[in-house]
Amino acid sequence: MTNSVPQFRVGNGYDIHRLVSGRPLIVGGVELNHPSNLGLDGHSDADVLVHAVMDALLGALALGDIGKYFPPEDDRWKGADSVVLLANVVEIINSKGWNILNVDSVVIAERPKLKPHIDSMRKNIANGMGVPVEVIGVKATTNELLGPEGREEGISCHAVVLLQKI
Ligand code: MG
Repeated sequence: MTNSVPQFRVGNGYDIHRLVSGRPLIVGGVELNHPSNLGLDGHSDADVLVHAVMDALLGALALGDIGKYFPPEDDRWKGADSVVLLANVVEIINSKGWNILNVDSVVIAERPKLKPHIDSMRKNIANGMGVPVEVIGVKATTNELLGPEGREEGISCHAVVLLQKI
């Protein structure tokens, strides 16, 4: 049976947001405290981790990027909870007949320490996607004081996803 051959798609996503004062610092749906009271600038809640995951999901099916679905000039997404946007993206993926097998990601931030919050981030993402927390990987690293992340000008994230045709 030729149609029993499993079909897979891989996707990758990247995002970066500026660190500024007067904004909340939300990563993976968790509000963090920055030692210098910095937060992420953006039109939505600027959740760099969730944005990278959304772009990876869309990329796996060559559906474009989140700017196409949630344009920054659209006031509906002002201050939007990115986990809610993530649920919308997963709905698109599922409606096209694909299941999410796993997600892996790495957040690059000099401060604050993300380790104590990793499991909460994984849970938030898993809930938003409707998948078990075991298939959501979130890692964190500093940039060894190098580059924009190292100088605390911003926080970035890379993510990959694997999908299987239902
Ligand atoms: Mg973004």
